[in-house]
Amino acid sequence: MGALRFTGVVLPGDEQRDLYVVDGRVSYQPVASAETVTRGGYIVPGLVDAHCHLWNSPEGFVDGADHDRLRDNARQTRDGGATLIRDCGCPYDTAWMNDEPDLPEIIRAGKHIAQDKRYITGVYTHTDAAHLPAQMAAEARRGDGWVKLVGDWIDRGAGDLAPLWGLDELRAGMTAAHAAGARVTAHTFSEAALPDLVASGIDCIEHGTGITDEVIAAMVEHGTALVPTLVNIRNFPSIADSAGKYPTYAEHMRSLYEEHPRRLRAAYEAGVPIYAGTDAGGGIAHGSIAEEVIALTGIGMSAVDALGAASWRARAWLGRPGLEEGAPADFACYSANPLDDLAVLREPRHVVLRGVVH
Ligand SMILES: [Zn+2]
Repeated sequence: MGALRFTGVVLPGDEQRDLYVVDGRVSYQPVASAETVTRGGYIVPGLVDAHCHLWNSPEGFVDGADHDRLRDNARQTRDGGATLIRDCGCPYDTAWMNDEPDLPEIIRAGKHIAQDKRYITGVYTHTDAAHLPAQMAAEARRGDGWVKLVGDWIDRGAGDLAPLWGLDELRAGMTAAHAAGARVTAHTFSEAALPDLVASGIDCIEHGTGITDEVIAAMVEHGTALVPTLVNIRNFPSIADSAGKYPTYAEHMRSLYEEHPRRLRAAYEAGVPIYAGTDAGGGIAHGSIAEEVIALTGIGMSAVDALGAASWRARAWLGRPGLEEGAPADFACYSANPLDDLAVLREPRHVVLRGVVH
């Protein structure tokens, strides 16, 4: 394949450059024979959807054998500008997708770990507290460097959200997962689950709507990341409406929804590292990363911080390079500057993945 040239402002910098793609990699050394793909416009390091579920879609669960639907979900994610996915808990093995170069790179978190009846039926590993550390080590081996816990869920006996794990087993679990080379994240909505998760040394929190000033201070101290999935939080009122015989839970979900902009803004202002994840799967279409970036400005993030949360900062967090010399040619091109108007992200002019223009 011949060399390609993209002329544009390479964000987060502010200068126009000639970016060449040679053998799937970025180069800034002129190649006289290169074919020009774009002139003008803006080039953004490949976007990252740091929380999505390829096994799920608005049409329902995807059977693990239905490779075409899994490919469709991954391609929708790519066409939205994301060249890297953190699949935040998957009930089956999708490693075959690594062999298909038109699909985004996927970093997997193994299978969700929960106690019996404390997550969506059929998609998690059942584990009691005593076996949590061993199961975390097992999922660390199954994933690509992440382990996903369910940190809280409705406890139907109590009629409200409640934590699944105590501090002792969490501490032992973090030690086991870290020793196996994985980072750990947890689904949480409530206030109650967060203090022990953060104290145990967890690396990231998903949703985090129950975040308090004390937890924010602890997260800053530990360097704990937060992926708030703001588009998904918009579903909390409808979750409350369908909570039926659990009025306390419904009221709690409504109050978490009411409080979340203020709480998450406080986390941002305190310096908690925040990354963009769509939680695409159940109620949210794949390929929605632009909507999540725009939503991040709703909790007070600046445009450059919101875009960085889905691009260069997220890539660094996940150990992936930006657009330096020799890096994989994963980027998106836009006609106008997304930092002036993030709505530009809804319409990538080109998405380049492994040097191939899509
Ligand atoms: Zn999720």
